Amino acid sequence: MKNKSDTALAAALWAQEDRLAPCVHCGFCLPACPTYVRLGDENDSPRGRLHLMRAVVEGRLAPDSQAFQTHIDRCLGCRACEPVCPSSVAYGVLLEAARESVFRARKTPFAARTLLAVFSSGVLTRWSMLLARIVRGLGFAGFAARSLPRGRTFHPVRFGLAMLEASRGRLRLEQSSDSGAAGASDYRAAGSAAPSGSVAAPSHGETPWKDGSRGRVAMLRGCVQAGLFARVNDASERVLRANGYQVVEVRGQGCCGALHTHAGDAVRARELARANVRALAAADVDFVAVNAAGCGAALKEYGHLLEADEECGEAAAALADSTRDISELIAGEAGRVGAPLPARVTYDAACHLCHAQGLREEPLMLLEAIPELVVLPLRDAEECCGGAGIYGITHAELGGEIGADKISAVVETGAEIVATGNPGCMMQIGAGLILDESDVITCHPVELLDESYRRAGFYDGR
Ligand code: SF4
Ligand code: SF4
Repeated sequence: MKNKSDTALAAALWAQEDRLAPCVHCGFCLPACPTYVRLGDENDSPRGRLHLMRAVVEGRLAPDSQAFQTHIDRCLGCRACEPVCPSSVAYGVLLEAARESVFRARKTPFAARTLLAVFSSGVLTRWSMLLARIVRGLGFAGFAARSLPRGRTFHPVRFGLAMLEASRGRLRLEQSSDSGAAGASDYRAAGSAAPSGSVAAPSHGETPWKDGSRGRVAMLRGCVQAGLFARVNDASERVLRANGYQVVEVRGQGCCGALHTHAGDAVRARELARANVRALAAADVDFVAVNAAGCGAALKEYGHLLEADEECGEAAAALADSTRDISELIAGEAGRVGAPLPARVTYDAACHLCHAQGLREEPLMLLEAIPELVVLPLRDAEECCGGAGIYGITHAELGGEIGADKISAVVETGAEIVATGNPGCMMQIGAGLILDESDVITCHPVELLDESYRRAGFYDGR
């Protein structure tokens, strides 16, 4: 390290120095890393990036050096390196510290600065989401994404528009003439052939839970989730209620700050986290339910993010302990079984569910509990889809390559629907499918369960 300012820039990494020590340089993490597998450069592997971080901590490399910034930037933050590490290196925490150092060391590009500013403000978020919904609703995003010339192999604007189009709910519900059940519908992907045969009569599952008997739950509404995926929030709320939870509305909550943490903007990430901690702690709930993998992982790490915060630190740790992905609250023997949904679905494991939260079985259990829903295995289901926030746009070529592999894997399953528990993954995979002119559609697993419940009549009279 050459000067005092370098030391100040690297302060975040310095604070995490002890977390670098457990790495024994074994290299077990290398084959799990999507960037290393594709680029073959040790500097783009977890071990290589940890080596660069150590060089910064020891003063052999400046945090504003091109090498450090390039290879830290190129990390997807997918955390596939964590579960395979025999030394339990906390790579995610270290990456956040490294990104904070990079964030301090350079002028953040205008587009990224704008995005971070928008999602720091509740008002700006709401207005930007309204604008996005208008563009999406008018059909402009889909039209432009499909019409823009394909001159280059990857076109970030075109892809961004396709992502917006992909956020539209594309599950089409049509009244079935042969179901014979009032309110039942033929459930299929838009553009796909109708399942053959008549729709099975809904099986009205037992209701072992009295309303609210399983506890009070606050739902994290989110920013993009509330703005573009309100239908997923609504479905989550109905499904929680049908499973005996009391869902309470909590005002004053906002963006979880995951986007800011991943970008290295720790100051604003902490501000957003504090606001959520205050709002959700005041609600006095048993659980905070989250249906977006990235946001769930962020809330579960609030204890770490605010560990030095005298006012909110304790409440942040308690909030982290009470946070659950929606699948954790619903899946398993206690989950209520709905009516049959004859469709073929495949499941993509969002990185922040399987790697960051260790939730592999729960989302699958949720799907497998839906009668007649055929769940087809997906090749490399736990590999990143290339979304990683806005990686598909900032690292268009590499993100595009990783995304293309995911699209191939989805298409080869023969599924009509791909279910995944994160809005970013739904948009990334959905955009790839749209641009590939595929009929396969994306949805959240809870949307399928919600439809199964609706067909079973669980919401009748509500
Ligand atoms: S697997 Fe863990 S200990 Fe081995 S090189 Fe990777 S981070 Fe280091
Ligand atoms: S987070 Fe993902 S991309 Fe980054 S080093 Fe780990 S496995 Fe590689």
